[in-house]
Amino acid sequence: MTRHAIEIEGLKKTYSGGKEALKGIDLSVPRGSVFGLLGPNGAGKSTLINILAGLVTKTAGKVTIWGWDQDVNPRQSRASIGVMPQELNLDPFFTPRGALEVQAGLYGVPKSQRRSDEILDMIGLTDKAEAYARTLSGGMRRRLLLGKALVHHPHVLVLDEPTAGVDIELRQMLWNNVRKLNRDSDMTIILTTHYLEEAEEMCDEIAIINHGEVVARDSTKNLLGQLDAKTMVIQPDSAVGALPEVAGIAVSTREDGTLAVSYRARQTSAEDVLSMLRDNGVRIRDVRTEQADLEDVFLSLTRSA
Ligand code: ADP
Ligand code: MG
Repeated sequence: MTRHAIEIEGLKKTYSGGKEALKGIDLSVPRGSVFGLLGPNGAGKSTLINILAGLVTKTAGKVTIWGWDQDVNPRQSRASIGVMPQELNLDPFFTPRGALEVQAGLYGVPKSQRRSDEILDMIGLTDKAEAYARTLSGGMRRRLLLGKALVHHPHVLVLDEPTAGVDIELRQMLWNNVRKLNRDSDMTIILTTHYLEEAEEMCDEIAIINHGEVVARDSTKNLLGQLDAKTMVIQPDSAVGALPEVAGIAVSTREDGTLAVSYRARQTSAEDVLSMLRDNGVRIRDVRTEQADLEDVFLSLTRSA
C-alpha cells in the first residue's frame, strides 16, 4: 500500500464538444490529509472530482484510489471514495432516511452495517428524517448530500465546493464535520473551493489548477507565504489621467473611479506605490488595502512563471 490516498498520473479529459478540461494532471494526495483543490470557475475542478467519483470517464491517464487502479479494480476504487457533488441532485421523493438507505444499498452496505441514524444526527437532520427532500431547505439538502457521501464508510471524502453560496452557520457546521471526520475517523479529505481563506483555514496542502493544469502544489503554509500580492485601493481627489508604466506596479481604474494598484510586497513597498502616485500628481483622498484573493494568486503565479 502506498502512503497516498489518491494518485493521479497524466490525467486528461476532452469533452465530446472538444473542450480540453484537463490537460495532463499529475497529483498525489497524502493519506490522512485535508487537501485543497483550488482554482477559478472553469478550471477543471469538478471534472477531476467527477472522474475520481466514476461519474465522468477520463480520456487518458491513470487514477489510483486507496491503492486501487480505477481501471483494474473499479469496484474497490469506487468503494474507497465518497463524493459530495457540487450540484444538488437529490430525488425529491425520498426522505433523508430513505435517501441514505438507498445510497447504502447502491454501495452494497449490508443492513446490519448501516448507520443512518448516526449520519442523520451528525448532519443535523434527525428531526427531518421522514420529510420529503423537496420540502428541505437548500442548506438541509447540502447536508444530506454530505450524509450520502458517507454511507459506505469511505477512506477518502471529496467535497466539491461544499460552501459555495451557503450561509455562515452551515459553513461552520460543514467545517466542523469535516475536521471531525479527518481527526476522529482518519478520513482523507479533498475539497474544492474558490475561497482562499477557506483553504487557508482547512487545508494542510493545496494544489491550484487553472485551465486544466496544475500551476502550483505545496503545503498551505508555503504556498500562502509565496503570495505576497497586495492591492491598494486609492480614491483620488480628482479624476486621474493615464499613469506611466512602472515595473512591478499595475494600476487599473475601477467602475467607481477608484484606482486599484497591485504590487508584490516583497519587491515593492507601500511607500514606493504612494510616492509613484504622488510623483504623478495624484492626490489621495482615501486609501485601503485588500487581501490577496485567488485572482491575485493566479496573477502572481503566472507572472513569476
Ligand atoms: P470547475 O469545476 O473548476 O469550475 P469544470 O470541471 O466544471 O470546472 O469545467 C471545466 C471546463 O470544462 C469548463 O470550460 C466547462 O465549461 C467544461 N465542461 C464541464 N463539463 C462539461 C461537459 N459535460 N461537457 C462539455 N464541457 C464541459
Ligand atoms: Mg466545479
